Amino acid sequence: MTVAANEPLGEQGTPRNLARPGHREPHAHAAPQPFTYPLQRAFVEPDWTRLPGYGGVSAADWESAQWQRAHSVKNLHELKEALGSHLSDALAADIARDMAERATMSMLVPPQMLNTMNVDDLSADPVRRYMIPAFSERDPEWPSHPYSERDSLHEAEMWAVEGLTHRYPTKVLAELVSTCPQYCGHCTRMDLVGNSTPLIAKYKFEIKQPDRHAMILDYLRKTPSVRDVVVSGGDIANLPIKRLEEFVMGLLAIENIRDIRLATKALMGLPQHFLQPDVQEGLERLGRTARSRGVSIAVHTHVNHANQVTPLVARATAQFFDWGYRDVRNQGVLLRGVNATANDLLELCFTLLDHAGILPYYFYQCDMIPMAEHWRTAVWEAQALQHAIMGYLPGFATPRIVCDVPFVGKRWVHQLEEYDRERGISYWSKNYRTGIESEDAQALSKRHEYYDPISTLPESGQAWWREHTKELAVSP
Ligand code: SF4
Repeated sequence: MTVAANEPLGEQGTPRNLARPGHREPHAHAAPQPFTYPLQRAFVEPDWTRLPGYGGVSAADWESAQWQRAHSVKNLHELKEALGSHLSDALAADIARDMAERATMSMLVPPQMLNTMNVDDLSADPVRRYMIPAFSERDPEWPSHPYSERDSLHEAEMWAVEGLTHRYPTKVLAELVSTCPQYCGHCTRMDLVGNSTPLIAKYKFEIKQPDRHAMILDYLRKTPSVRDVVVSGGDIANLPIKRLEEFVMGLLAIENIRDIRLATKALMGLPQHFLQPDVQEGLERLGRTARSRGVSIAVHTHVNHANQVTPLVARATAQFFDWGYRDVRNQGVLLRGVNATANDLLELCFTLLDHAGILPYYFYQCDMIPMAEHWRTAVWEAQALQHAIMGYLPGFATPRIVCDVPFVGKRWVHQLEEYDRERGISYWSKNYRTGIESEDAQALSKRHEYYDPISTLPESGQAWWREHTKELAVSP
């Protein structure tokens, strides 16, 4: 390009036509923001040999799913062995009391997850706080909301077949297995998933697994209005790959099934599972078969904190894209003391997106299960967080913060119809019938209530609940 000697130059030294109508001299530039990008955190696998229990563990053992499962921590003694003096006696006693008096999930933490904790400050560590809760962290007055329930989403009430929840018009949830390689303290399926605790005797499936799976497939064959199946549990990583493959191949043979999502927290908690040759081969066959039949198959995982996204997680995830999976998406849970700040959420979303190609999809408010009040956030807090994270991530990767309203389903936190902030009661409605409302003429006009944690209410609201609870004869 030639520049005439008398032609003006713009800020970048290029010629400018100042005579152009509406000429503007560009002046925008990157501004300081409440959240700073690029991320400052290093993306490296934390060194497991820093932990007293894993000092001599080789990389080959560390990357072995079998080794990880065999060394998963199941009790306080094993936790102490793994963490040594990093676990103080005071915190150990606090955890022990929680296990005896409050826990709704038993302890099960793979070394991979322990290794993502900051062992120099376990009391404050976000992963420890939701995987291995301590008694003193629970709400002292209201450890449970008076309206909390074991199966707070009434999933079992909406079973069409044992383990198959038919809540939405076109999609279902298939709980294939009731165990996981890791147990999360806040698990919404605490009624069904995992081992019993001193507080909670778990529900057990009554029908044998192969029969149950066959009955689920049979129901879906006979129900053409369903097009979308969430294949979950528990965690699909605890189903032998042959069984999983048989079931999903069964789904792929049903003409009305167009979307399949495999749900596994183990992609983060035990990525080693997905690096085993037989698991890789089975999942690859599923991806390629789905693609050849024009069915969308994706993986849904559950990561709550950026510290948990490591290179091994990214390696396990990358394979799914090669195998024809449409996406790997994250459904985290919003947990006070773990990730309920705009900074934590954005840090997590960018780490997922930039380092592992995982799409931030949803953050659920922690459900109204027993003993969860200290983790739960009020709807207004979730609304403020949604506002605070808008505009940073691409639109397609900006997660929606949702409230799973009993008898309604997921609702974006701004969708409520009315909100009594004093008593912390929000009112919600829906535009479809759940699987148990076909005879209910009021189903589409009814309003359903959702409750904020009482500790987040003004004193007048807390006093109302104290009185109201007496009337209900419910103990907090
Ligand atoms: S992995 Fe999912 S189903 Fe399993 S304990 Fe955690 S939240 Fe519950």
